[in-house]
Amino acid sequence: MFSLLQEKLEDAFRKLRGTAKISESNIADAMKDIRMALLEADVDFTVTKDLIKAVTETAQGEDVLRTVNPGQMIVKIFHDELVKLLGGGATELDLSPPQRILMVGLNGAGKTTTSAKLASWLKKQGKRPLLIALDLYRPAAITQLQVLGQQLGVPVCVPPAGETDPVKATRAALKWLDEQGGGVAIFDTAGRQEVDDELLTQLKQVRDLVQPSETLLVADAATGQQAVAVASKFNETVTLSGLVMTKLDGDARGGALLSMRQVTGCPVKFIGVGEKVEQLEVFHPDRMAQRILG
Ligand code: GDP
Repeated sequence: MFSLLQEKLEDAFRKLRGTAKISESNIADAMKDIRMALLEADVDFTVTKDLIKAVTETAQGEDVLRTVNPGQMIVKIFHDELVKLLGGGATELDLSPPQRILMVGLNGAGKTTTSAKLASWLKKQGKRPLLIALDLYRPAAITQLQVLGQQLGVPVCVPPAGETDPVKATRAALKWLDEQGGGVAIFDTAGRQEVDDELLTQLKQVRDLVQPSETLLVADAATGQQAVAVASKFNETVTLSGLVMTKLDGDARGGALLSMRQVTGCPVKFIGVGEKVEQLEVFHPDRMAQRILG
């Protein structure tokens, strides 16, 4: 995870750590290297600029050159700013009534897998998850969810045979839900290859019926800034309450994760770190900053 970013940052910080007497110009050089490292890691340009500015200003404000170990201080300042950028503290999943989680995102982002992962996670929290298959455009997604539900011992609602209207399928699912006697419902909605108006219109209709407590966008971190653009687009139209960044295990750069919060204003709530059902983690900005800085 983030091997490229880690390597570049390490190079930049090594210069500071290895210099006996640090001057203003050493710091300016390090900031240039860090800026390059972030841009090469596909971090959004404005996010990079703001982060460097914040670190530089804090370093000046704290008069780091007068401290015993200026190099170490700068790493700490960078760490703290990174934590802020990633959202500060962990943002909890809202499980207030009606306890409904709408999963949205593009095809292949990992929606169905993440729905099952979330069900497994909720089970471990002592909750009663329920899975609802609403991806009418990808019939394999329905079977996939059924199989995963069976493995997890979680009830799965499938759309009526031959149903092609997402609104009708949602109504049927809500009726099924009423008969289940409570639980946290996870709705796996349809995706597309790219964000289009039809997808968003249908999602809005589904959302208005479901009235979810959480609308989570599942975004593939490895797609970089494209994932950030997708999140912004979904957020404008269906108002997201949080994000799940998937496939961080295969993401060497980390640019999407680092840009997501600031660009979209939405908190990352979970991260996917592998294909297995248990490879979902609650997102902790401080632990992530620590991981990135090694
Ligand atoms: P959907 O079209 O959004 O429902 O996507 P799927 O849930 O079918 O996932 C697409 C592919 O991504 C599958 O092969 C999943 O196993 C894989 N996948 C999902 N999440 C992760 C993750 O966190 N890490 C890795 N390595 N693969 C993942």
